[in-house]
Formats: sequence, structure tokens, C-alpha cells
Amino acid sequence: MSTYDVAIIGSGPGGYVAAIRCAQLGMKTAIIEKYNTLGGTCLNVGCIPSKALLDSSHHYEDAIKHFEEHGIEIPGEVKINFKKMIERKASVVEQTTKGIDFLMNKNKIDVFTGMGSFKDATHIEIKGEKTQTIEAKNTIIATGSKPSSLPFIKVDKERVITSTEALSLSEIPKHMIVIGGGVIGLELGQVYRRLGAEVSVVEYMDRIIPTMDGAQSKELMKVMKKQGVKFFLSHKVSAVDRKGTKVTVKATDKKGEEVSFEGDYCLVSVGRRAYTDGLNLDKAGVKANERGQIAVNDHLQTNVSNIYAIGDVIRGAMLAHKAEEEGVMAAEILAGQKPHIDYNLIPGVVYTWPEVASVGKTEEQLKEAGVSFKSGQFPMRALGRSRASGDTDGFVKILSDAGTDEILGVHMVGARVADLISEAVTAMEFRASAEDLARMSHAHPTYAEAVKEAALAATENRPLHI
Ligand code: FAD
Ligand code: NAD
Repeated sequence: MSTYDVAIIGSGPGGYVAAIRCAQLGMKTAIIEKYNTLGGTCLNVGCIPSKALLDSSHHYEDAIKHFEEHGIEIPGEVKINFKKMIERKASVVEQTTKGIDFLMNKNKIDVFTGMGSFKDATHIEIKGEKTQTIEAKNTIIATGSKPSSLPFIKVDKERVITSTEALSLSEIPKHMIVIGGGVIGLELGQVYRRLGAEVSVVEYMDRIIPTMDGAQSKELMKVMKKQGVKFFLSHKVSAVDRKGTKVTVKATDKKGEEVSFEGDYCLVSVGRRAYTDGLNLDKAGVKANERGQIAVNDHLQTNVSNIYAIGDVIRGAMLAHKAEEEGVMAAEILAGQKPHIDYNLIPGVVYTWPEVASVGKTEEQLKEAGVSFKSGQFPMRALGRSRASGDTDGFVKILSDAGTDEILGVHMVGARVADLISEAVTAMEFRASAEDLARMSHAHPTYAEAVKEAALAATENRPLHI
């Protein structure tokens, strides 16, 4: 039987990064993945394919809506070859997952393909083409998450679908009913709206992206409404029925009246749940919490001292970069180091266009906590760069402590803010004040100038260009 210093179950961004860091630190490392390709949800059916389709559909939208204003004329009709768009997405996924094979090989990590389950706290059985058992002094569980649904919905994966199927449809829906106005619903809803589908988003709360700053919810909804997406907020879905190619969604609106939506596809995007099926946690003695997530302490250690857990399968934001940070942290703890993650500084991004990005506390959170703060906001439309590109929607909003001026939260909507948020993360990591940012030179013309201007507005209410 092969023996390892560490075995990692699951090869998503949490698991494969943990494996690389363990190998870098000199541990004999194994990684176990039940699917034939490495990379987990993120690379196969999450971050990467969704961004490929967002980018392809964005090119199409530009071609039909914006080229003309730039003086670009296309003779004849611009057409979508949807099959090719999906094939390109598959090819981007393939290149990316092959990159992980390369990295495992380069770092001399043994890859086992098959379902991993505990026999006890130091032995893992792997059921693949053959069944084998390995011994691991330590294990990192990185088994991720699966889409969740509502108890009365039967997800048939054909017409009533999750994000996984929505990334590989064989046709463009005529009317896609999206249940849940969170990250997945809005990203994939925007993809299909751009491609010509009617899209109706039915959301339980009174705003979309309800965990982000309220100003972002409002701005994104305003822009997406202009793009033709229909929103039904404060609607409680009560039934989803499929007959042939027709899907009917029933909901109760805030007046208590029943409304009904008819479409040909229904995307269920009401969140994801930790995935621990088949792990045989009880054989190792590992406990889950009341939400089915694996319970860990501040050191990512489960109740069994040689077993750790990271990523979507534990508490916290379900984000690839959060899983990666935890992968590195678990590896370094195993090597005797004392790493730390500041969860307040894990940024959140929605890759719609305009993009939405946040770090730190929202205005709602600061109010609830009774913190006195200043707020500075600057609209993208006042930037030369935005007018040059035609991307004038959005803003940057900086919240800083009323007494010390320390930045407490940064919230953005606009072109390329997914990249711009890194400036805010860096500033907050070094506990910068809004004035620090306001006094830094920002290249002109860039979208980043909105950060400087919002910081000027937060510091002394003296933006220069508005
Ligand atoms: P996962 O990536 O879920 O990987 C877990 C792996 O474990 C899987 O490959 C699974 O097959 C394997 N596994 C499970 N059980 C076993 C077992 N018993 N034996 C062997 N293998 C097992 N996050 C972002 O930060 N940015 C984005 O843009 C983004 N976009 C997304 C878009 C979509 C449509 C979805 C669904 C998610 C998106 N996410 C995004 C979230 C991101 O994908 C997850 O947060 C991330 O993948 C979590 O990583 P993980 O390593 O914890 O788990
Ligand atoms: P989510 O938590 O982002 O959004 C779910 C939405 O569904 C919420 O707005 C919620 O209020 C709503 N909802 C819940 N129950 C409902 C009901 N009964 N009826 C109507 N609406 C209901 O979840 P998601 O969009 O499914 O995404 C799952 C996870 O994947 C998220 O945690 C996210 O972090 C991750 N993800 C991240 C990205 C990214 O980083 N860009 C992209 C996609 C997914």
C-alpha cells in the first residue's frame, strides 16, 4: 500500500492548490479526483466556462449594438453559431484542465482517479477503474459543492436546469426563467439575454445580489433592465412544472397574489451546498455542522486532528480564490508554519458587464454594526476613459472610518472593476486611509482614476472631476 504525508480529496481550486503547496514544502502528496479531468467545479463547470460564454456573448452584443457607433459597419447580418460558441468554451476548459495535469506532473504529485472514501482516519479507499487503498498521515478534504434546489423542484437537467446544464445547452432558449437573482442567475441570465433569449429573473429578496452593497444591486439592475432582462423581486416561487418543452413557474408576489411565468427553460440558481456524499466521514469520525458543511476550527482542522477541510465544503464564501487561499494555508499549517487569512479582504466579483466588485464591509453592514463612516462615490461616466470606450455605467464607492479615515469597504460597478478591485484589496491589506489612495497618482486615462476620485470624495468631499 502506498503511504503519503498528505492526501487531498478533490481537485478543484482548493484541492489542486493545496497539493502544489504541500509538494513545494517537501511533502509526499497524493490527490484524488472522482472525475476524469482535474480542476473541480471552477475549471469544468464554473468560473472558466461561464467566463468563456460571457466573453463570447459580449463580443456578439458589441457587434450588433455598439460597432456602428464606433464607425464599424458589417455588411449583412451578424449571426450566432451557438454550437461553435459552446465548442470554444469546451476547448477553453480543456486547455485549462490540461494545465492542471501539467502542474501535478511538474510537482511530482500522484493523481488518483476515482471516488475517495475514508476507511478510517488514515486510510482512504479509491474506487475508480480499480479499487485501491492508500495510507495518508494527513488528509485535506476539498470536495467542494453542488447546486442546491428547492424541495418542490424536480431538476430534470433538460428544461429545469442548473448552471452545469446552462453551460452546455444545445439551443438558445426562447424564454429562460431564472430562479434566484444571485451571481449565477445574473451571469448566465446575461449570457442568454445577449444571445436573444427573453430572460425573467424571479428573486425572493427585495433586491438582486442581496449580499452586496445596496448601491451595487440598484445600479446593476438598472443596467440589466436596459439590456432587456425582466426582474420580479420579492417573489416566492411555489411550483415549477414541465410539460414537454414548456416550463411553468408559479410564485407569490409581495401583495400575496399568485403569478405565473411560462418559458422553455428554467435555471435554478438559488445557491450551492457543501458536497460530502460518499466520503464516509463517520468512518474517520469527522463531524459536519448543521448546514452539512464540514466543521473546522480557525486552523481549518476538523474535529479529527490529522484531517483538514477547505473551500466550498466548509463555512464562508463559495469562491475559487477563497478555496485557493485555504489550500495554501492548510499546507503551510501541515508544514509547521503559522499562516493567516483575513476573510474580510476576500473580494467578491460578478462578471456581468458592467462588472461588479466588492471588498470589505458594505454600507448596510457598517450601519448595522453602528460604525460611523464617511462615503465617497464617483460615477464612471465622468471619466475620459469611460467615454472613449463607451462604458459609462457604474461607479466606485469608498467607505472609510469617520474618525481615522481607514478604508472599511470598497464597492464598484463598471468596466474592468473585477481587475480594479485588487487596488482596494492592496490598500486595505496595508490598512490605508482614503486619503492615502486620494494622494496616489493614478494613470490617465484609466478606469482606476475613479478610485482616486472616490477616495477624494470620501476624504474631504473634494473630487476633482465632478
Ligand atoms: P470544487 O471546485 O467544487 O472541487 C471539488 C472537487 O472534488 C470536484 O472536482 C469533485 O468531483 C471532487 N470530489 C468530490 N467528492 C469527491 C470524492 N469523494 N472523491 C474524489 N473526488 C471528489 N468562483 C469564483 O471565485 N469566481 C468565479 O467566477 C466563479 N464562477 C462560478 C460559476 C459557476 C457557474 C459556478 C457553479 C461556480 C463559480 N464559482 C466562482 C465558484 C467556484 O467554482 C467554487 O467556489 C470553487 O470551485 C470551489 O473550489 P473547491 O476546491 O472547494 O471545490
Ligand atoms: P447566490 O447565493 O449567489 O444567489 C442565490 C440567489 O437566490 C439569492 O439572491 C437568493 O436570495 C435567491 N433565492 C434563494 N432562495 C430563493 C427562492 N426560493 N426563490 C427565489 N430566489 C431565491 O447563489 P448562486 O447564484 O446559485 O451561486 C452559488 C455560489 O456560487 C455562490 O455562493 C457564489 O459565490 C458562487 N459563484 C461565484 C461566482 C463569481 O464569483 N463570479 C459566479 C458564480 C457562482
